[in-house]
Amino acid sequence: MSVKVTVLGSGSAYGVPVIGGDWGNCDPKNPKNRRMSPSILIENNGAKVMVDFGPDVKEQTLKFGIREIDGVLFTHPHADHITGCFHLPMYMRYFSKTKNLPLFADRATRKDIERVWWFQNDPKINVEYSGEGRPYWREILPHEMLNICGMEVMPILQHHGKMDSMGYRVGNFAYSTDWNSMPEESYEYLHDLDVWLVECDSETPTTMHQHLDQVLEIIERVKPKKAYLCHLDLTMDYDTISKKLPENVELSYDGLVIETT
Ligand SMILES: [Zn+2]
Ligand SMILES: [Zn+2]
Repeated sequence: MSVKVTVLGSGSAYGVPVIGGDWGNCDPKNPKNRRMSPSILIENNGAKVMVDFGPDVKEQTLKFGIREIDGVLFTHPHADHITGCFHLPMYMRYFSKTKNLPLFADRATRKDIERVWWFQNDPKINVEYSGEGRPYWREILPHEMLNICGMEVMPILQHHGKMDSMGYRVGNFAYSTDWNSMPEESYEYLHDLDVWLVECDSETPTTMHQHLDQVLEIIERVKPKKAYLCHLDLTMDYDTISKKLPENVELSYDGLVIETT
């Protein structure tokens, strides 16, 4: 069954350019360097799922015409992946008559989202958001397959500094953002990939993310047919970095559509 992925945001936490207009090493004249916050849309088997709900989610859903979806998968509770939850009550108008919008997250991520947006999540505090149209939480456990309206999704455990984060595999596509290491067992879920969308936060080493030399070594180990790099910061100019990449690796950009069979 084919998997279609749209990159809604290829940027690192603060996007490119950052607020105020700093582009770093990135050439402002290349539209592929304009990057929104990290998020993708996955379509498979009739189901449509977004991964993460960051600060640019409103612009992303408008730009890519996304309205009804079958769920949101969260990778972890860093701000660049959850800040758009502010828009959830407004977004859930599209779901309230038929169903609630399922939100898939591990316990720590759910806890952080509920803590920040307490006014959307605690029916005792604000009854306005209770009943239909409320977030419908579904707990994710590492390496336990999810079925979201017919889309089978495998959550893959990753380490991201002192916290854990979740990668996701659908068919022969996998998305691995925000990690600096993963347990050996997790690599078993990344075999035989047609496409691996994997983070490379910057060209130079960072503590909680992948950087260029490191991720290229890991790509050699995982051996996907094709790899795209995402979660790109100001050091990752599209043309300059593209020249340093092997043949099967490319930078992603906002609006990139990836299809696997
Ligand atoms: Zn991030
Ligand atoms: Zn993060």
